Amino acid sequence: MKVEVAIVGNGVAGTACAMRLASEGIRPLLIGAGLPVDRPPLTKSALADGVPRLLSDAARLDERGVDRLDGSVAAADLAGCRLTVTTDDGDEMVEAERVVLATGLAYRSPPVPGLEGAFVNANPHVFDALAPLLTSGPVEVIVVGAGLIGSESAATLAVAGHSVTLVDMLDRPLDRLHDPLPDLGRATLDELGVRFHGGVTIESATEYSLETAAHGTLEADVILAATGGVPFAPPGLSLEAAQLPLAVAQEMLVPGYERVYACGDLVLVPHAHFGLMRFPHWDAAIGTGEHVADSIAGKGGPYERLPYWWSDIGPRRLAEVGFAGAVSAWADEDGLHVGRDASGTPVCVLVVDAPRRLREARAIIQDGAS
Ligand SMILES: Cc1cc2nc3c(=O)[nH]c(=O)nc-3n(C[C@H](O)[C@H](O)[C@H](O)COP(=O)(O)OP(=O)(O)OC[C@H]3O[C@@H](n4cnc5c(N)ncnc54)[C@H](O)[C@@H]3O)c2cc1C
Repeated sequence: MKVEVAIVGNGVAGTACAMRLASEGIRPLLIGAGLPVDRPPLTKSALADGVPRLLSDAARLDERGVDRLDGSVAAADLAGCRLTVTTDDGDEMVEAERVVLATGLAYRSPPVPGLEGAFVNANPHVFDALAPLLTSGPVEVIVVGAGLIGSESAATLAVAGHSVTLVDMLDRPLDRLHDPLPDLGRATLDELGVRFHGGVTIESATEYSLETAAHGTLEADVILAATGGVPFAPPGLSLEAAQLPLAVAQEMLVPGYERVYACGDLVLVPHAHFGLMRFPHWDAAIGTGEHVADSIAGKGGPYERLPYWWSDIGPRRLAEVGFAGAVSAWADEDGLHVGRDASGTPVCVLVVDAPRRLREARAIIQDGAS
């Protein structure tokens, strides 16, 4: 089939790109397995009730002017914008004028013998097998990995009444994030009754247990692996471009290609104020997806969307605007955690349990930039 724009990946960025293209009068083909699923609920509402949330359904996509191909891109000649899509009915060849890569991150369990079978709840298809185990009554759960995904998952499960142990090789939950996030995360998990073990090396695992150096055997009914994702190389990228995440240009074009764009977690965001930044969060997936659509529609410009991410760890509401990577020093300013760069300009604000102050936080960064 011949199409104007083919989008590879029907997650947050790909769907945002498709919707925006359609609103600009370009009918895209959105390629991915099944219907578009939203990722953030997989550690929150969907983990609590076992039902992944859709970004859109078939009728709505059609109504909005988005075509859909249910399958996976297995091979590609990206220079020629030709894709081979594997579907239930066999291979489908797609020839596009432009291709958008929106394949996100790949989430897998860590390479520990026996842990391959752990549930990776960042992947929606896992819920078919996981949901019945978690929704039929309280169980013992071990969550491996205490980053945002693991800490959120542990908190959600504890709130749902499960007995939860969270383990990480690092000493604190959220240890890779800036202060005071690790302490805030730990305090919330403690309040919810989650047992946290830091500095844990897992030597081996079975379906129901972990062998650890410092804590001996840890047993559970369900083991979740929440050790993060790595950018997923879509088929067909030249070796030169395959350095991930992709460092795209302002128009979100993939280096070395004239008609191939990329967005979402797959890219380093080319931010007008912060430079190329790694920012694998929901709002940036939407922003970069829409930016690709604007570029294709000839309305491109600098990418200036204010970076924003949020996290719900049980009842705790964390939200941050700006870019923590640009901060030289943090200070508490009237209950907001404000990060300033070396020149004293506010470049990041962390808002804790005060969603109504988000607008104020945005204004602090925007006023600082002007
Ligand atoms: C569990 C979880 C919770 C999160 N919670 C938050 C949160 O609270 N706040 C926040 O700011 N951010 C959150 N995020 C981050 C946010 O969801 C991501 O930044 C966003 O989903 C990235 O969008 P994306 O389109 O790049 O990737 P994804 O949404 O992951 O979509 C990529 C899609 O590409 C498809 N795909 C891959 N390869 C192919 C192929 N060869 N052919 C066809 N399709 C393919 C995949 O199946 C997938 O559907 C969370 C992420 C996860 C995983």
